[in-house]
Amino acid sequence: MLPRDFVSVFVGLGSNLGNSQETVEAAIRALSNLPQTQMLSCSSFYQSAPVEAEGPEFVNAVVHFQTRLNAFDLLRACQTIENLAGRERHYVNSPRTLDLDMLIYGDARIDSEFLKVPHPRMHERAFVLHPLRELAPEKVLETDLNFVSDQAIRKIC
Ligand code: ADP
Ligand code: MG
Repeated sequence: MLPRDFVSVFVGLGSNLGNSQETVEAAIRALSNLPQTQMLSCSSFYQSAPVEAEGPEFVNAVVHFQTRLNAFDLLRACQTIENLAGRERHYVNSPRTLDLDMLIYGDARIDSEFLKVPHPRMHERAFVLHPLRELAPEKVLETDLNFVSDQAIRKIC
């Protein structure tokens, strides 16, 4: 059987518990180390106020990589990385320190119970659109940015 082609993927990362910047950096390293995966680029880090949630500010970033993992295996890998980040400092079922959202998986359109790509809410979130625009400006419309212009966000590094 021929090896599956690489697929271009964008994943959004967010953390608002513990040392969020370290958590996001560690998650990016973990994604880079996934099998059959090559990291391509990483956005700046942003700080954003919680949307539809309480609590401290989030640290957010978006990464672009290519992978031969299928979308469901990649989702499981992301969830494993989330679980490992949560386990370090917290009790069972405590709030997660890390959220990994698969934003775009090649041209795939998936609408299953456990996985929806493109991520259905990505165009409503400033903390996705601003970092994504750095990596793939063609994927972010000016009208989307206008739509989220009331959401507080700033670049931190
Ligand atoms: P949020 O929508 O705020 O990121 P959660 O991270 O708690 O909420 O949602 C996790 C659930 O979302 C998981 O059970 C996962 O199966 C599902 N899900 C659906 N589509 C995606 C996607 N594109 N990326 C990540 N999780 C997804
Ligand atoms: Mg999520």
